[in-house]
Amino acid sequence: MIEALLALGGNVGNSRVILDRAVRLLCDGKEIRLKARSSDYLTPPWGFKYQPPFVNLCIVVETTLDPRALLERTQQVELSLGRDRAHEKRNGPRTADIDILAYDDVALDLPNLTLPHPRLFERAFVLVPLAEIAPDKVIAGRRVADAVRAVDATGIEKLAPVPKPAAP
Ligand code: ADP
Ligand code: MG
Repeated sequence: MIEALLALGGNVGNSRVILDRAVRLLCDGKEIRLKARSSDYLTPPWGFKYQPPFVNLCIVVETTLDPRALLERTQQVELSLGRDRAHEKRNGPRTADIDILAYDDVALDLPNLTLPHPRLFERAFVLVPLAEIAPDKVIAGRRVADAVRAVDATGIEKLAPVPKPAAP
């Protein structure tokens, strides 16, 4: 089993419900096991500003899949939750975006997969949830807890857990 760090985000539909489904679809308990999950965070939109705020979270998983197979799985889950890459704009609205932040200490530069994720250290909406669950992780020589202090986290709001429905 190899450890991987993933970031999830979305701003179309009921994002907390959709991202919760994404985590459950992805982490089947066999090839991908959930080790830790951050809180949900409400974050200001990035890049293209005139769109609703995003919900973002990070997870730590253990997996038997290689990096490409893991990417394929994340993309299958995005699709099954209604993501339509053909009709979305870069940094625009989406139902569920799943990025692989790091896969063990693997460094990779394929046309469709770069590891560690190249924009990780610019993105407060990734670093804030990641620092909640993996502050001491070192990615590309940088400790997550140090990296998060170097970004502007203005407007990022930690959300309380979704209340579980009362038992009947
Ligand atoms: P972004 O995540 O930057 O908002 P997309 O989700 O549309 O944008 O991803 C664009 C492409 O990035 C995908 O087609 C995928 O192949 C590629 N990609 C490269 N490296 C990674 C990674 N580490 N995790 C997820 N996708 C990646
Ligand atoms: Mg992505």
